[in-house]
Amino acid sequence: MFADLHLHTSFSDGTYSPEKLASEGKRHNLAVLALTDHDTMEGCERMAAACVAEGIEFVPGSELTAEQDDYELHLLGYFLDSSCEKLTKALAEFQTARQDRIREMVERINKAGVNLEAESVFRIASCRSPGRPHVGRALVEAGICRTLDEAFERFLKKNRPGWVPKFRISAPDAIQLIHQSGGVAVMAHPGLNRSDDMIPELVEAGMDGIECFHTKHSTAVSEHYLMIAEQKNLLITGGSDCHGMNKGKPLIGSIRLPYSNVQKLRERSEQNRVRYGHTPADPSAN
Ligand code: AMP
Ligand code: ZN
Ligand code: FE
Ligand code: FE
Repeated sequence: MFADLHLHTSFSDGTYSPEKLASEGKRHNLAVLALTDHDTMEGCERMAAACVAEGIEFVPGSELTAEQDDYELHLLGYFLDSSCEKLTKALAEFQTARQDRIREMVERINKAGVNLEAESVFRIASCRSPGRPHVGRALVEAGICRTLDEAFERFLKKNRPGWVPKFRISAPDAIQLIHQSGGVAVMAHPGLNRSDDMIPELVEAGMDGIECFHTKHSTAVSEHYLMIAEQKNLLITGGSDCHGMNKGKPLIGSIRLPYSNVQKLRERSEQNRVRYGHTPADPSAN
């Protein structure tokens, strides 16, 4: 039995619905799926139902944008209690910041002499947690760019005319938020961030695990982080980071994490709930 613990839907910048994602998971013979949309858990209710229908085990989660020493890093929260008030409030703040950022990006693109309306981005995104890929799709739809890649190259990458930094919570605050919400905190795709120097401080802040397996990790990179996981006594996770068609092709199925790693993650969430005093607002919620 295998899991994919890093997946996005159209509730953030993926293109698949929760139902489509669950059926793709089934097609790839995955026994466990975790939804990790950026700064939102809105898709989790539908994803949970879709997974039940497909006979798949579901892990609710979210991917938070954090920073450490001025570098961006992504922290995955698993087994988060979506009814936790502190979490709901924090996610709403992150989402408002994302929407404000879209308006600012569009303004900058306008100043570069390109006609684009924020409303066209929000219509395409049609979610509360929009990001750069939605601006890119709006640029393509308006005929300004031919492809999403071109939109990133010309406008959306760092130091391009449309670039606006994103709000980032400090990594220790993100880890604390995840723990207070009943969750398990995992560093996402460490191989993408050149982030080894950050790891000791993150471990000090209580980080539980590290995503050793990811579509963009070579075998050597995965092995490197497996070694770090062992040295630092971190849980091991893995996921495809599938964004539906937003990364050119659907990535679900490319990463297959052994089920034993999911069991350890679940055990840690139970331990964390005792350790960090999380009491679910709704005892029947997970
Ligand atoms: P944001 O969180 O709004 O800064 O946007 C980051 C998202 O943009 C991530 O999901 C990336 O995978 C995606 N992204 C970055 N570069 C590209 C690209 N060239 N084409 C498509 N998506 C990209
Ligand atoms: Zn994304
Ligand atoms: Fe990420
Ligand atoms: Fe992701």
